[in-house]
Amino acid sequence: MLDVCLLGTGGMMPLPHRWLTSLLIRYNGRMILIDCGEGTQIPLKMAEWGFKAIDVILFTHYHADHIAGLPGLLLTLGNSGREEKVTIMGPPGLKKVVEGVTVISPQLPFPLELVELSDSEESEQYKSNIFITSIPVDHTLTCVSYSIEIKRQGKFDVEKAKNLNIPMNYWGRLQKGETIIMEDKVIKPEMVLGESRKGIKICYCTDTRPTEGLVPFVEKADLLICEGMYGHVDDSHKAVEKKHMTFYEAAILAKHGGVDELWLTHYSPALNDPEEYIHDTKAIFANTIAGKDLMTKTIKFQ
Ligand SMILES: [Zn+2]
Ligand SMILES: [Zn+2]
Repeated sequence: MLDVCLLGTGGMMPLPHRWLTSLLIRYNGRMILIDCGEGTQIPLKMAEWGFKAIDVILFTHYHADHIAGLPGLLLTLGNSGREEKVTIMGPPGLKKVVEGVTVISPQLPFPLELVELSDSEESEQYKSNIFITSIPVDHTLTCVSYSIEIKRQGKFDVEKAKNLNIPMNYWGRLQKGETIIMEDKVIKPEMVLGESRKGIKICYCTDTRPTEGLVPFVEKADLLICEGMYGHVDDSHKAVEKKHMTFYEAAILAKHGGVDELWLTHYSPALNDPEEYIHDTKAIFANTIAGKDLMTKTIKFQ
């Protein structure tokens, strides 16, 4: 089971009724935050999931509306009594940006681990039992999209384990995918596990034009959170020029990727009511939802 909370849905600047786009993911009590613009601490506080368990912070790119909230958040994490390492990941330039913004959040009581992701190919990291994959996308600055996946092993086959004379106290470790060395025998998890089962996959894509690579990247996601900077078809040329997407382009991506559900986010400040365009967007991809600040969802294993 994994929980997501879309903290904000705005692009460019926070508005009185709309915080900047950011996503909080919780799994086994640990949390990942994607993007942290100006004011992200406010919906984080309102979500009431706490701050202390944020182990990983991911950045799509270094436009202020995605990163300017970092120094304040780090100070809050410090004040929450956190002493364990915090990992920050983002495209190349991360070290320079974090060094710059942390000038105003010095003397943190926890170490920062900085992981620069590739801007030319897909890369995969493994943190807190979660696979974090990034892919370079097409924006006015170097930018990546993310896929967060919980992979799931096959079912444990009790009969097989009994036939191999494996004591019960090893079963849990094998179930988690560990190889066991028992006296002179090596027991691999595939010897006692069935076929691997569908896990959970969430994708977060902002700010970008639709790219060819995004279709296989988001394939069969349980939830795609995708930018929809513009709702009106007449704004399509702006989306091309400013390297963003319209609602319809996000819906086409969701359809081609065969995802279960699409949440739109990163609305232009000029877009007052995203609902106005949802009817037409649903004609392309029926399970589209206009994202709202603090919208949450729990995704369970099938
Ligand atoms: Zn943005
Ligand atoms: Zn941007």
